[in-house]
Amino acid sequence: GDLDVNVPVQSKDEYGKVIQTFNDMTLRLREAEDARRRLVADVAHELRTPLSIMQLKLENAQQTGQFIPPEMLLRLHDEVIRLGLLVEDLHVLSLAEAGRLALDCKPLDLSAKLEQVVDDVKMEAEENGLEIRFYSNTRSVTVIADARRITQVFINLLTNAIRYTPEGGVISVVMEDRALDRNAVYTCVSVIDTGIGIPSEELPHLFDRFYRVEKARSRHTGGTGLGLSIAHHLVRAHGGFIQVMSEPDQGTTFTVYLPLGK
Ligand code: ADP
Repeated sequence: GDLDVNVPVQSKDEYGKVIQTFNDMTLRLREAEDARRRLVADVAHELRTPLSIMQLKLENAQQTGQFIPPEMLLRLHDEVIRLGLLVEDLHVLSLAEAGRLALDCKPLDLSAKLEQVVDDVKMEAEENGLEIRFYSNTRSVTVIADARRITQVFINLLTNAIRYTPEGGVISVVMEDRALDRNAVYTCVSVIDTGIGIPSEELPHLFDRFYRVEKARSRHTGGTGLGLSIAHHLVRAHGGFIQVMSEPDQGTTFTVYLPLGK
């Protein structure tokens, strides 16, 4: 393609350096171009099947002149909603991956926010026979963050915890105001579940977009395979990072590290 340019470096002088720099830039451009191409291919792949199923159902109804039964309409509607959310997620992800996600950072009381988020998912957890609890070693911690994006991070982690924990399980959200890691001080929040866990060989791919552990296992849960990827990029955009520990059949812990606000 256009970007497959590589000039052989023959001299060690200024020209050699210029050519080396040029080659490095070409490589980086090619990597960006590859990433973009992969994203487009992934998106096309994700959208194609549900869209063609909906198309078939609608065409079939049109050709036979039969009414679409209400439950099929409901399912079609759910699918349209799901695709809409997928497009929204992809938009956030592509902005975040390109480092172009504009954050609206302000001082945020993280413990208050977490309490609210836990409250928001409590009903869904209880409907699934799960207990959910929030623990904090402090009354209030301020981080400099985009409240909407941070909410999305924890909603994604909690939705997963609920999805992948069988009835009778417990989900704990644990906040620690000061944790030292990599020579910096962070506020850290763990989302701990007693669910199905993740095999260790899957962990390195977990934050890749569209990655789902055992596709069959995850399909019926209705996720998109983007939740963790988005969470990872949103936390990174805040100068933090996410760690995961998991034991199959025992449970999973995701820990979000956020830089402490001054
Ligand atoms: P999905 O929309 O499929 O949930 P995510 O990016 O949120 O996509 O998660 C990727 C995969 O990681 C999931 O399909 C699931 O297999 C696995 N996973 C995520 N969170 C958990 C968890 N708390 N327990 C077990 N498996 C999980």
